[in-house]
Amino acid sequence: MASKVLDHFLQENLDDLKNRGLYNMIDPLESPNGPVIKIDGKELINLSSNNYLGLATDPRLIDAAVEATRKYGVGAGAVRTINGTLKLHEELERKLAEFKHTEAAIAYQSGFNCNMAAISAVMDKNDAILSDELNHASIIDGCRLSKAKIIRFNHSDMDDLRAKAKEAKESGQYKKIMVITDGVFSMDGDIAKLPEIVEIAEEFDLITYVDDAHGSGVLGNGAGTVKHFGLSDKIDFQIGTLSKAIGVVGGYVAGKKELIDWLKVRSRPFLFSTALPPGDVAACIKAIDILMNSTELQERLWNNGNYLKKGLKELGFDIGESETPITPCIIGEEKLTQTFSKRLYEEGVYAKAIVFPTVPRGTGRVRNMPTAAHTKEMLDRALAIYEKVGKEMGILK
Ligand code: PMP
Repeated sequence: MASKVLDHFLQENLDDLKNRGLYNMIDPLESPNGPVIKIDGKELINLSSNNYLGLATDPRLIDAAVEATRKYGVGAGAVRTINGTLKLHEELERKLAEFKHTEAAIAYQSGFNCNMAAISAVMDKNDAILSDELNHASIIDGCRLSKAKIIRFNHSDMDDLRAKAKEAKESGQYKKIMVITDGVFSMDGDIAKLPEIVEIAEEFDLITYVDDAHGSGVLGNGAGTVKHFGLSDKIDFQIGTLSKAIGVVGGYVAGKKELIDWLKVRSRPFLFSTALPPGDVAACIKAIDILMNSTELQERLWNNGNYLKKGLKELGFDIGESETPITPCIIGEEKLTQTFSKRLYEEGVYAKAIVFPTVPRGTGRVRNMPTAAHTKEMLDRALAIYEKVGKEMGILK
């Protein structure tokens, strides 16, 4: 018999979320997640994917995945430390290290998994973690799992970080102290102040950890935010995902050989969860080869990002302070933001509303993720729809 307590809990909480407009509706795609998508038979210009370089549908990656799948099958068959490690996994890890300019790398099944794995493998209850207040949910969960003391600092506020690092260090309470930040913050498109973070880390002997999920493939000629600032030998943990610019699935840590050796013997998802499938691994290897040999896709991404930003700004929208192709269009009030996104959808643009609690109250936005795969015509069509809906709703004069 089903549990009454569970039934009651689910009913009450689901109703509450629905009443507060916080229940996520899912729109399943009938097409690849490319620059134009199909939902319910309707074609939409897609400004919501993390497929920044269009690699998710690149024929070179598809061929690599198909070939490896035919050769090795669809699954790895075991966790990495039993016998789920193919030569391909090790090739991917060597390529990732080269790509990130580090000694070594370790791959995980997802970026989320990677943060859970890496933080808790090194930090424990005797330690403290200084964490940017806007860090991704997987970092927050990884920190919690470690049982270290979590000290949040105000978003990209270097005075606050310095004061909190000083206090933690001088308290003498902690064996190790780590500072963690996203490389690029995905809600506003701003870049972490890594040179200042490294300076503070050197002053107070902090371990440095950068999750560059949104910077890899985008900044630093593709190598990411750390490379963008020329800090490859100064950051202990460089985290990335294989699911955004790389276009496939997976996550990784790049760093010193001893760190990677430690993660291979101590990080639990590596030890206890089945390895990435061969086809995905082969596609990731191909993507990294492409990124290391050409910056053409990044150039297209940045050109498209700048074009969309300029267009939205000229129309009169508030596009915030983004420093990357991620372009928020800040509408403000939550309900208005959701209606705006819904009207864009009806007119043919898929751009999700992001509202409280993901962003602070009153700063609801429609977030645009232009990619290398968009054409100027698609972006012009999107801008025309933005103008129409913006005027109709009185957001634009
Ligand atoms: N870190 C950050 C900063 C992210 O934005 C995301 C994805 N939203 C992740 C980690 C998780 O990556 P994945 O989707 O590969 O699990």
